[in-house]
Order: sequence, then C-alpha cells, then structure tokens
Amino acid sequence: MANTSQVITCKAAICWGAGKPVTVEEIQVDPPKATEVRVKIICASICHTDISYIQGLPYAKFPLVLGHEGVGIVESVGEQVKNLKEGDVVIPTYIGECEECENCVSGKTNLCLTYPVRLTGLLSDNTSRMSIRGQRLHHVLSCSTWSEYMVCDANYTLKLDPTIDPVHASFISCGFSTGFGAAWKEAKVESGTSVAVFGLGAVGLGAISGAKMLGATQIIGIDKNEMKREKGVAFGMTYFINPDDSPKSVSELVKELSGGTGVDYSFECTGVAPLLTESLEATKLGTGKTIAIGAGTEPIIPFGIVSLLYGRTLKGSVFGGLKAISDLSIVANKCEEFPLQELFTHEVPLIDINKAFELLKEPNCVKVVIKMPH
Ligand SMILES: [Zn+2]
Ligand SMILES: [Zn+2]
Repeated sequence: MANTSQVITCKAAICWGAGKPVTVEEIQVDPPKATEVRVKIICASICHTDISYIQGLPYAKFPLVLGHEGVGIVESVGEQVKNLKEGDVVIPTYIGECEECENCVSGKTNLCLTYPVRLTGLLSDNTSRMSIRGQRLHHVLSCSTWSEYMVCDANYTLKLDPTIDPVHASFISCGFSTGFGAAWKEAKVESGTSVAVFGLGAVGLGAISGAKMLGATQIIGIDKNEMKREKGVAFGMTYFINPDDSPKSVSELVKELSGGTGVDYSFECTGVAPLLTESLEATKLGTGKTIAIGAGTEPIIPFGIVSLLYGRTLKGSVFGGLKAISDLSIVANKCEEFPLQELFTHEVPLIDINKAFELLKEPNCVKVVIKMPH
C-alpha cells in the first residue's frame, strides 16, 4: 500500500483571522499518520459555514485553511488504514461514525462519541498536517477542501463510487445533504404530509428533495429571492412564498396555504433569528415539528416561547442527522436522481477565491464550485 513520505507543497485558501481577507498561498502538507489519508482535492464548493468561519464564527481557530465541501482522490494512506487505498475517490467528512458507541448504536443521532465533530479545528492528536512557513494551520472542523491537498483521519472519510460527477459529490458533502437529512432523519417526513422550507439555498433545496422523496404532498418554499422559485420547483416544491409580496407574516401565509392549521413540518435553513419563531408558528398546534439547520451569526436569539408551548417540537441538527458513512453513502448512491446540476451556478479557480464571495451576492447564485489548479 502506498505511503509517500514526502511533504507536499501546494496552494490553499487561508484565513489569518476573523474578518481578514482570504489569501491563496503555498502551504506544506505532511504525509498521513497511521490512521490518516492524504487526499488530492479534485473539486470543492462553498457552503455558508465557510463564510461564518471567515467572520470567526462559530468555532474558528486561526490561521486556518478554509473549505469543508469537496471530493478528492486518496494520494497516500497511513500504515493502519485498512478500508481505503491510493486512488480511491473520497469525501472528507466533519463527523465520524464508529457504529459502536452509545450514540451510533442508538439510531437516534449521528453525533458519534468516538469520532466527534472536531471543534478544535485539529485532528484527534490535536495537531494538523498543514503548516505555512512553519506555523500550524487549522481546519474547518476536520476539513480543508480549498486546498490542493489535505490530510484527514480515515474514520472521517467516505469512499465513493468513482463514477459520481465530482461537482455533485462536492454538493452532497455538506449543504444539500444537511437539508435532505433533516427531512429524512430528523423530521422523518411521512407520505401525504405538508412541509414548509425557510430559505432556498442548497440546504433548503435539499430539504425539499428529502420531503419529496418521502412523499410529502404539499411542499412550500419561502425565499425573498424570486429566482429561487424556479430552483424550488426543480427539486419538488409545490408552492412558493416571497415574503416581500405580502404585508402578512410568513407563518400566516403558510397557514393560508395549508387549510388554516399550518404544516406538519418546517425547516429553518436561514439562521435569520426572527424566522425561528415564524417557522415554529407555521406548523400545526400540538403536532408540528421544526428542524433548525440554519447557522446564524448570533449565538443567542430571542424566541417565541408560546409558539413552542402549544405542543410543537423544535429539533436542532448537525449535518441533518445523517451518519457520515451509512447514511451519506445512501445519499451518494441516489445523488444522480436529484437535479443537483440546478445548484451549480458559478465556478472560480482557487486563485480567484475572493471573486467567489462576490458571486455569492448575485441573485442567481446557488453554489460556487472551486476549481483546483492541478
Ligand atoms: Zn460512534
Ligand atoms: Zn456546510
């Protein structure tokens, strides 16, 4: 089994501190340690959490190499790695799955206790394999996909069918799957039910896809951007609400569309504080369930407690409750059934990464793909 012992010098997108500009610089990537793999990234994309990290939220440790959506090819493996080999196509994940800990066995959560989300931005030995001019670089959780090479633990790595389109593989590595999983694993949407999705970025469109697959008959999409109407329809949305078209609240508009009672399930994908109460209020009294998957910029938000006391359920979720190996591989195997091409609106080379942040402000932008120099 290959294990190149050389340090690789390559280009990566670095953020040196909260709010500082992102720079593309040469970094050094050490060979993988015993349980790790070094991955040559072939395609990456931007997810909103990267933008939060640039702003220093929620767990950013600097300096860091950005990017947590991407797909690559295993370049070399540590000597204890059994399940992966050189040349395998993989998604580096930010959550592991041991199949043995209390949480993995419970079937109730994807938050593995053996391979947890790495809030330190470092690998399990509290270091990383990346450095710049001798200084240690951090990950976004345990990923750094906006780099030509990255090293991750093999237990945070999903092996993929190599025939999957790399752009689509990148899209399912975080945003889309988070929404899809929220409908599938967290809400457990049933056939014939009604759903409202707040925010139609990749996460929201994933929630629509999940709700459609599970047989929801009424799928209401909500977004202030009129261009998202067409995207929502492509993924299975049945009604569109643009809140700017009416003086009424969004929850009132949702109730009008759902027989006055509200929907069975709602998904808050924006992280915009007042919309959490609105998304709860848009669900049925007594039985409504809201899944919060939008990462906002405020750590504590005001919240309408009465909306909750009326018997509704509010559930938070990381990665849509998807287990990083068993569930994500199912999404990967199905991914050509979803119109993922609809998400792909822009592409920039790694060196022009700052242009990507401008593109994200364009109304027609859903996902920006980052092309690697190699
Ligand atoms: Zn586990
Ligand atoms: Zn993400």
